[in-house]
Amino acid sequence: MLKVYLTVAALMVSSLIEIRAQGGTINSLYPQTGFVTERLSPIELEKWKGIERIVFAENSEGQPTHPTLQNLWQWIETSGHTVYIEIIKLRGGFSCTAGLFHIERFDPLGDHHIAVIKLNLDSINQAYVGPETMKPNGFVPFLGLEKEERYAEVLGHELAHAIHILTDLERSRLVEDTVQETNQMILALHQRPKPGGIAADLKRRIFKRDVLLKSLEKQAEGMEKVIWRELTATKSLTASGQAGRK
Ligand SMILES: [Zn+2]
Repeated sequence: MLKVYLTVAALMVSSLIEIRAQGGTINSLYPQTGFVTERLSPIELEKWKGIERIVFAENSEGQPTHPTLQNLWQWIETSGHTVYIEIIKLRGGFSCTAGLFHIERFDPLGDHHIAVIKLNLDSINQAYVGPETMKPNGFVPFLGLEKEERYAEVLGHELAHAIHILTDLERSRLVEDTVQETNQMILALHQRPKPGGIAADLKRRIFKRDVLLKSLEKQAEGMEKVIWRELTATKSLTASGQAGRK
């Protein structure tokens, strides 16, 4: 979720740099496209398969019960881009991060970006669900959902970011320049603090970054609301069916 992305993005950069370094030696220059799950342990892979089952669930007539999620998933699979999946644990005060989308290698031609979606399942399990977490567009994330359905909702949110950013080369360039470069500058400053603190130029960059992140978040939350509705619609049908109503 990008709200959390805002708070932890700078700290995430260090781990992403490590992954880049690993990727340079382990992976080929052009890894396979679509979702790549090779960074998951066998236990994590089972959890990922549980999420996949939710995405591709069907009703008794064989129709997809979560068509939006399924469409987002299939877009990634056929996009020509690589999206690694990782399941992460963030420490201490940053454990509230539910998910994250990040471009690891930007393709200036826009043909084959390499990106990652990180899901923090523990954080999702522990998330508070109530009126205080209602989004500006009027839905409460996770309300009425079971564990794996919550994971699917967060995945849908990150897929919405991924597709919104990867479908538009100018937008992906803007994210690369405005978000990721700014985060790297902040990280560099943390590693080698300069007298006088943050320069005016960097302050302007941070402001621009946060404006962009806010607009990206609005788009993803709009899509997340649609996904949440589809996830809860299936459940309310099941519940009414069990209660003997129509
Ligand atoms: Zn987000």
